[in-house]
Amino acid sequence: MKIVDIEVISLRVPALDQACEWGEDALIVRVITDTGLVGIGESDTSPLVAKAIIEAPNSNLYCSGLKALLLGESPLEIQKLWDKMYWGSNYLGRRGAGIHAMSAIDIALWDIASQYHQVPIHILLGGKYRDKIRAYGTFIPADIPDDNRVIARKLKEKGFTSLKFGGGIMGNDPITDYELVKAVREELGDDFELQIDLASKWNTYSHSADMFKKLESFHLNWIEEPVLADDMKGYLKLAKLAVTKIAGGESLTTRYEFEDFIRQAQPDIIQPDITRCGGISEMRIINNIAEMNGVKMIPHGFSTGILLAATVQFLAATKYGDLIEYSQSESPLFTKLVKNLLPLEEGHVRVLDTIGLGVELDENIMELYKI
Ligand SMILES: [Mg+2]
Repeated sequence: MKIVDIEVISLRVPALDQACEWGEDALIVRVITDTGLVGIGESDTSPLVAKAIIEAPNSNLYCSGLKALLLGESPLEIQKLWDKMYWGSNYLGRRGAGIHAMSAIDIALWDIASQYHQVPIHILLGGKYRDKIRAYGTFIPADIPDDNRVIARKLKEKGFTSLKFGGGIMGNDPITDYELVKAVREELGDDFELQIDLASKWNTYSHSADMFKKLESFHLNWIEEPVLADDMKGYLKLAKLAVTKIAGGESLTTRYEFEDFIRQAQPDIIQPDITRCGGISEMRIINNIAEMNGVKMIPHGFSTGILLAATVQFLAATKYGDLIEYSQSESPLFTKLVKNLLPLEEGHVRVLDTIGLGVELDENIMELYKI
């Protein structure tokens, strides 16, 4: 079996000159083989940047588009192909978008391998530890703190036992941050699992330290990305000071960045995104590093049902993968692109024994939002 083509599809809901909210664009790849088997993957990144990284012609031995490296190769040799892509895109890749693009292809290769061997991805990864995974819902808060009470209540009624909010106005000013957390905590009650995401908007260690103290009485389950992941000294100082668990790393790629982050920033939780960090293959290595260092992995995931299916398959096959992020985005790229989107069932997502990722793409939605 050989790879004969890689199709790269860029999707976007708003027009190119309009602002794009989270979850409103996506990069999908189809790795096509000469046997008719097709693998699907995704990267949650800037779609047109990743598309260029995949489709660019070779410039020199260290600087090649990914597709040129893979045509004619056997899709089953996944790690070998990962290494070939990493090596051959070294100048333009290594981190960031280069690895995002590789992630999409890596996921598609696992999809093909599962179809070829006729066993689920979680079996290929070593075995299924659980039949369902508890989900936490992520929502972007409304601008008026009290308006979030009704959002939180509805999500609790939907079955979630864990919620997170972030983005929007979160992190813009200390008083609003406090009011937001207070309103949602009061609505959900003291025993409900609640975490917040600052998307690095607390900026500095000193401001973060103040906020950790101010919010301590709300006993949040974790505080995510108070500062940029590159501010590892800031993270470390917070880790020494804070009672609340600290999470981060959704922007990081590869075992190398996560190893540094774990060692230098000492977070309680790392959050690699399977469509960015290097795909399923690299996520395994990152998970091993986390386990070896007493760090919990709770992946980031806020894009389409392809990402969701890949994350479920991966987490099912990890010892401690018992919590998954479940987007509350109303973007059609989350709600409609995958026709058989894994639903929320009593606060959990079921682990299906599908062959391959098992996602059925809605071709009409693809056509509608294709750039
Ligand atoms: Mg986040």
